[in-house]
Parts: sequence; structure tokens; C-alpha cells
Amino acid sequence: MTTLLLHNATVIDGTGADPKPRTSVLVENGLIQKVGPADKMAPPSSGRVIDLDGHTLMPGLTDAHVHFGQVGINAVANRSPDDNLTTYVIQVVENIELALREGFTTVRDAGGLDPAFARAVEQGLIKGPRVLPSGSHLSMTGGHGDRRGRYDEAPIRSLPGILAAPVLVDGPDQVRSAARQQLRLGSFHVKLMASGGIMSPLDELESVQFTVEEMQAAVYEAQMAGKYVIAHCHTSPSINNALAAGVRSIEHGSILDEATAKSIVEQEAFMVPTLLVAEFLARAADAGEVPHYGQMKLKQVRSAMPASVEVAAHAGVSMGSGSDILGVRQTGRGEELLLKAKVVGPMNAIVSATQTNARLFRMEDRIGSVKEGMEADLIVVAGDPISDIGLLANADNIRLVVKGGQICKDII
Ligand SMILES: [Zn+2]
Repeated sequence: MTTLLLHNATVIDGTGADPKPRTSVLVENGLIQKVGPADKMAPPSSGRVIDLDGHTLMPGLTDAHVHFGQVGINAVANRSPDDNLTTYVIQVVENIELALREGFTTVRDAGGLDPAFARAVEQGLIKGPRVLPSGSHLSMTGGHGDRRGRYDEAPIRSLPGILAAPVLVDGPDQVRSAARQQLRLGSFHVKLMASGGIMSPLDELESVQFTVEEMQAAVYEAQMAGKYVIAHCHTSPSINNALAAGVRSIEHGSILDEATAKSIVEQEAFMVPTLLVAEFLARAADAGEVPHYGQMKLKQVRSAMPASVEVAAHAGVSMGSGSDILGVRQTGRGEELLLKAKVVGPMNAIVSATQTNARLFRMEDRIGSVKEGMEADLIVVAGDPISDIGLLANADNIRLVVKGGQICKDII
């Protein structure tokens, strides 16, 4: 295995501590062996030394809400007569590879990616970040995952091993069975749709979806498998339902009141705001790519989300970082940190995309901080992301990507 001395960088360690200038990091056997002052660290007898003067070294970024598998913005509007699975697989692989080149070394899928893609990354068949797959998300009939037109009856079908389409289920028994099926296929967590959403044709944003009993069935099954449930919730009533059922990860939280933020803290749950997708969809709307039913809901979410992040931060909610971007050739996912920083500052935005996400993934003893004994998931940034957090939104500034001690990108 490679030995690597990353010499004389400014280190942002992911914990929120002040950046440490003139620091070196020794990587051996895939792990961070030593972190110390640059002038005290001798070069290794074998292996590579990379001089990082003027650069920032930090933990690999993580994204807690990706949709590598959702290559059409909308399953109804974007269906083309030429759609085929070969193109689909190639587009998904491209999304996975792009994320690693942008400095993301671990990501959590929030629905739509078959776990087989995560295994292909593990096997080295795809050059991508570690992927914590979701498989199909579970939605009630007429809920956010139900993308059928009003008079369509047949839902889109999954093809296990390739395509993880939404599963429509009603009643605790169906939810339980579907959760077991996703866990059987290798999902890392179970994703539920607990409120209306922007891109679903037939629901209102305020609609509260699934009963507490239905969600409890999924939570029980996930917990018995040592896993947890994540739930799409735009509004406070839907968040309160999800919390009552024992959901651990609240996705979006776009329209959040103070009492609900306190409940998230009391339940020791996490919230993953997704600021970037609102901007992403607003740009798509300008290009005429958001159907009419989504436009009003998009305005509601986009106008409320930054204030909700502020409410959550003020209440002390553990806030992860998720981009939620969709479509083909997914790029610029680091812009989520730029948008988050406008509300909570650049260091907090970085911590949410490193150490807090690692806690959310229950991987904080392996990833998310630059400490001795951690896996060597590291990136090198040209410049100082604290003074210019926007650097992280452009892959050209991510000069080196190391995952598990292996150099995956090198444009130093
Ligand atoms: Zn999503």
C-alpha cells in the first residue's frame, strides 16, 4: 500500500477547530498515520511527498442527499421513446465519477440508486465515492414518490440490480414488506416520503404523507437490521409525524418552526437541508424544464429554506449537508456549502459536510475528520475555503482527491 506525505498545507480538520497552517499529514496503509507540524515530520523512506504550500488540506467532502440514479428531473415529463437501460447505466456511472472528481469521498443516496452500483464502486469497477445506497424510496399512493399521471394506473417497475423505481405502499404491512425488500437488496437505510414535494404531479407541499403507524413499521425493520429511516419532509407537521415514528434523518426541513426544531434536538435526530436543489430547480424552471405543478411549490420551498436553516441552527439541530441535485452530468454539488455558509458561516458549512455527516452516517470513527487513525479520505483545495467557500463549488479547485489512501485525482 502507498505511503504518502502531504507536506506543509493549511489543515482544516473537519471538527470546526481553527485551520492549522504549516501542517503535514502522513498516510500509510489507507489510514492517516500522523498529523503534525511540517518542520517536525521527516519524509518517509519510501513513497511520495507532495508539497502543498499555499493549499488547504481537509477531509473528503460528503453529501448526505444524492440522487445519482435520478437522471431525468421528472419521471413523467422526461420520458423519451428512446430511453433504454444501457444509456441509464452509463449516465449513472458518470454521475458517480463526477462526484469523486469534485472532492466527495462518501455520499448517501436518498432514493433511486440500486445498491448494485454501490457494490460496483466497492469492487473498484467504478471510480466513485463510497456510496451508502437507499435503493427504492417508499411512498404512499398519491404521495411524493407517485409520479404517475392522474389517469395512469401502472407504476414504473424496478429492475433489481439496475433500476430502483419508487415503491408505492399503503398500510403498515405493505410498508414493512417493502422495507424488508429494500434491506434485502442491500440498502444502507430506508427512505420514506412523508410530505408532498416539488416534482410530484398530484400532491400539495403541505400534504402529510404516511401515518405514524406506517412509518413505525419501516423504523422497526430498519432498526432490527441495525439501520435507520430517513424521511422526505418539507413541513413541520410532516416532521413531527416522522419524529413520532422514530425517523432519524429529516430530509429538507424546508418550512420549519421553532417548536419542531426543538423536537428534532430532543429526539437526537438529524436534519439535512438541501438548499442547492431549490436553486438548481429554479435554473431549470428558467429553462422551461419544471412542469407547471412544480413551479408554485418550488417558490414556497426556495423562499422558506434559508430561514429554516437559521431556525435549525439556533435550536442546535445536528445539521448534515445534502445537495439533492438531479439529472444527468451532475456537477457543482459543492455549491451546497456556499449556500449553507450564507446562513451559518463557512466553517459550520464545512463541518456539516464532513464531521456532522459522518455522525449521521454512523461513520465518525472512520471518516469526516483529519485525525490519526482515520481513513485517509482527504482533499486538497487551491486556496482558502474559509475566505472563499465558493472554491469548493468548482472541481478545478479540488487539486487532489485521496480516498482510503489511494490518489483518485491529481492535478496539483
Ligand atoms: Zn431528494
